[in-house]
Amino acid sequence: MKKILLIAAITAVLSCNKKEEKAHPHDHPHTMESETMYKDPKNPLNKLTYASNIDFSCNMDVSKYGVSDTVTYKGKLYGFCSTVCKDDFMKKPDEYLAKNQK
Ligand SMILES: [Zn+2]
Repeated sequence: MKKILLIAAITAVLSCNKKEEKAHPHDHPHTMESETMYKDPKNPLNKLTYASNIDFSCNMDVSKYGVSDTVTYKGKLYGFCSTVCKDDFMKKPDEYLAKNQK
């Protein structure tokens, strides 16, 4: 009888150990990074010059992966991989800029 309880306990512990795979913090078109996700040469947003090559929200290199949305903040143009990132940046732009200005 004790043996059965022990097995049940071990099974319970093992099933608790299963960690859920952490996905990207927000839904991104580039969750699966592959070459097909690299920037689209036909996208006019990729031809613009940005204040930074980095999407300040998710720290992705938009010069490499492409820009889906942009915002002008304090006279500078910033590119983002997605609207989600742009919105996130605009919630606290100064905080993001301070973090990335080095
Ligand atoms: Zn992003």
